[in-house]
Amino acid sequence: MTTIKAAVCHEFGAPLVVQDINLRAPARGEVEVTLAAVAVCHSDISFIDGGWGGTLPAVYGHEAAGYVSAMGEGVDGYEQGDAVLVTLIRSCGACSSCAGGIPTQCGAPYDRDKGPVSMPDGTTLQHGMACGAFAQRVVVDQSQIASIPPNLPMDAASLLSCGVVTGVGAVVNTAQVRPGQNVVVIGAGGVGLNAIQGAAIAGAARIIAIDLLPEKLDVAREFGATDVLLAGDPEPWNALREITSGRMADAVFVTVGAIPAFESAPLLLAPSGNMYIVGLPHSGAMASYEPVMLGALGQGMKGSKMGDVVLARDIPWMIDLYQQGRLKLDELVSARWPLEQINEAIASTRSGTARRNVIVFGKT
Ligand SMILES: [Zn+2]
Ligand SMILES: [Zn+2]
Repeated sequence: MTTIKAAVCHEFGAPLVVQDINLRAPARGEVEVTLAAVAVCHSDISFIDGGWGGTLPAVYGHEAAGYVSAMGEGVDGYEQGDAVLVTLIRSCGACSSCAGGIPTQCGAPYDRDKGPVSMPDGTTLQHGMACGAFAQRVVVDQSQIASIPPNLPMDAASLLSCGVVTGVGAVVNTAQVRPGQNVVVIGAGGVGLNAIQGAAIAGAARIIAIDLLPEKLDVAREFGATDVLLAGDPEPWNALREITSGRMADAVFVTVGAIPAFESAPLLLAPSGNMYIVGLPHSGAMASYEPVMLGALGQGMKGSKMGDVVLARDIPWMIDLYQQGRLKLDELVSARWPLEQINEAIASTRSGTARRNVIVFGKT
């Protein structure tokens, strides 16, 4: 058992408290990673706000990179000091989802209230998202890490753990966008920008970014958007029809959690087009749509969790793209913060203007 600093959520909606917590040694099949960087994701904020339930106190954070600092029995393929990503994708490798190539939907149970972290007095501390990465160190299952080259900047590398795989993966894995198709991405934040660059990699014909903020649309162009639309337009389908010469969108990716985005997305679809649910509203939030249109036009809706990523397949590919200059990572980092300023970093992410805010750790 070691004592580490972590940002703990004691009350939904309240600021996190940076304090000491206990971290136990890795058990069989687990690794301890000393973190170099962890990004603030909107999913962390949804948990902090109580949007998805769970017990308190809890330590969240799930988009991280660092160095292997201890290993339990039965961990193969890693050595002390290896640079790795840390993700929330805990997969058993044996259930029907894992065996079917969708480890992001692993069905193996994990009790987050019995994880490797505890409060200083030994009482329960929830291991948020099976990760708990708003902390100097984590202990996670070996399925949750992936090797990265030691020379990769760790702040940029951390984004591969969630924002990048979620956006790029939604396009190439879930939707399997083909060259020549038209893609709309609603929301040009940390995930949306990655859906945009994923669409560019996939060879989309037109890539249309929609956001509320004009300055984010400028950034969307840098990431590969061919056209942009302000979300305030009451009839965006008219502009889209013009941009796409009447075709509309073969795929619409909703990368935000705002309900109006989910309700307008089907109206942007081409015949046989599909919308993809990437951003996640709070539990209980409802959207409505007109079934007759989807039925008559052969359209569909599908969810995409963590871009249906397979770490061993997709992470080396994405790192290679980055090293060739074909995938932007460094440009996604809008600011770096020490753990002590995590509440300021969260406030910046809430404001909607940031790409990704990253907590960086000094050498420990
Ligand atoms: Zn995330
Ligand atoms: Zn599984």
